Amino acid sequence: MLDEINIASKELAKGAKMLSKHCENCGFPLFERDSKEYCPNCKSEKIVSILDDKKINKEFKSHDITYKGKSEVLDKKIEYLFKKLDEETEITRINEISQAICALIKIKKYT
Ligand SMILES: [Zn+2]
Repeated sequence: MLDEINIASKELAKGAKMLSKHCENCGFPLFERDSKEYCPNCKSEKIVSILDDKKINKEFKSHDITYKGKSEVLDKKIEYLFKKLDEETEITRINEISQAICALIKIKKYT
């Protein structure tokens, strides 16, 4: 689980965006950068066009609004925690924040 956080924070630091989708191979959260959707864990990637993305969003909305809403809340919190983690210098706080991120990623996986 700590590895996942390391990978994810590196991707966020590079300016990638964490998506509310997961890798088909390993279940790791997918990231998006330069119109590419990729899994930083098993290095699989695919190029997504903006059109495709819009289509997916539309499908998402018509299928399950609650799911999307929940997922967005989790994404926001995870991003917030990563920012906090970046600023934090106290070991106990870093530990606390890491655990909170772990918990959120876990929830995200099963949402
Ligand atoms: Zn993967």
